[in-house]
Amino acid sequence: MTRLPTMNHANEMEDQLVLRARRFLAEHVTPRLEAGEKPWYDAALSQAAAAAGILGISVPTEFGGSGASFSCKVRVVEALAEADFGLSMALINSHNTAENIARNARPAVARRFVPEIVAGRMAGCTSLTEPGAGSDFAAITTRATRVEGGWRLDGEKAWIINAIRTGVAVCYAQTETGSGAAGIASFVVDASRAGFVRGGPITSALPALGTGSYRLDAYLASDDELLAPAGQAFKRALTSINGARIYVGAMCSGMVAESIRVAAEYGRARKTFGEPLAGHQSWRFALADASVDLEAARLLIYDAAKRLDAGEDVQGPAARAKIFATTMAHRHVGAMLHCMGAAGFADRYPFLRHLESVQAAAFTDGSTEMLKERIARGFR
Ligand SMILES: Cc1cc2nc3c(=O)[nH]c(=O)nc-3n(C[C@H](O)[C@H](O)[C@H](O)COP(=O)(O)OP(=O)(O)OC[C@H]3O[C@@H](n4cnc5c(N)ncnc54)[C@H](O)[C@@H]3O)c2cc1C
Repeated sequence: MTRLPTMNHANEMEDQLVLRARRFLAEHVTPRLEAGEKPWYDAALSQAAAAAGILGISVPTEFGGSGASFSCKVRVVEALAEADFGLSMALINSHNTAENIARNARPAVARRFVPEIVAGRMAGCTSLTEPGAGSDFAAITTRATRVEGGWRLDGEKAWIINAIRTGVAVCYAQTETGSGAAGIASFVVDASRAGFVRGGPITSALPALGTGSYRLDAYLASDDELLAPAGQAFKRALTSINGARIYVGAMCSGMVAESIRVAAEYGRARKTFGEPLAGHQSWRFALADASVDLEAARLLIYDAAKRLDAGEDVQGPAARAKIFATTMAHRHVGAMLHCMGAAGFADRYPFLRHLESVQAAAFTDGSTEMLKERIARGFR
């Protein structure tokens, strides 16, 4: 079938990265998912993703990455999420940990972790959320206390993608109780060091995601492992969350595109009342509606990504893109499942997995309400 159109991108290296991501899916992931297996994540898959360049997309070239644009990252994760949102998120969270450490950590610290992640030998995670603080990030209570030569970290993080497998975490902690956003600093935390206590998985949903928790019990971080000091860390976190909002929107587009593709293919083969489903106009209208919203979402997403690449403040565009993309995905993944009849529930099709994923997408990197709040501030 004809694929829905995507943007024209001039950069050949970036086009190649998107193609390599699609090849990675075709060779390592899609056949098993289409045979009804649950999504998974293991060392072999991580290294195959690394070989396809997925773990180094925007990581600087001196650390083995490709130094590609943010827009390229958006296109890659959109393609990956067609197969599985959890896998796409797990890989990009490792990638982002590497990119952040490569750009902001001391060189010796960066050399320790970044090449390992880019080669797929180590996973990375970014940890803001705690059992007592989600949307209200400034309310975190993980404590960073100054000690000789560094910092002592104590506290608990929850709902962290890759936490069950991570080798390194970017961890946000409060340096001065009661000081809110201004007191938050970030640290590079080595998961193999004493004081890092890993929790088990929190949910059986989205199995490739590896969502879990960890505790820091008198964990000692050296001065060199301070990634962003108080006064800068909160602002930097919000900047990178704006990027995440854009690519989570792109993942929703990927899931809708795949849902339309699968439903359209099924509709040509399955007959009712002597005609293929696709012969019934009111059946086709559901696909037409979905394709209209999908293209609108892509325009918002690609525009926000382009603005981010140009160095613009993307708070508004990122929030609008994510709200629109998650909302339209909620509606249309369900509608495409409906078009399949009972077959939509079969394990070999992605609909149930995508529905679960869209629900998670509406929380990660800012819930819909928080994003609306941000936009609504302009109307006070
Ligand atoms: C699958 C998954 C993966 C995740 N991965 C990570 C990760 O890698 N790293 C990380 O740090 N975090 C991660 N998170 C956590 C995520 O960022 C939080 O779920 C999110 O910030 C919301 O926080 P909360 O779940 O504690 O909800 P709460 O903040 O408790 O909010 C509960 C509900 O109330 C609404 N609400 C809250 N405040 C208001 C308000 N002022 N007005 C109106 N409505 C409001 C929210 O929109 C939400 O619907 C992940 C979450 C999920 C589900």
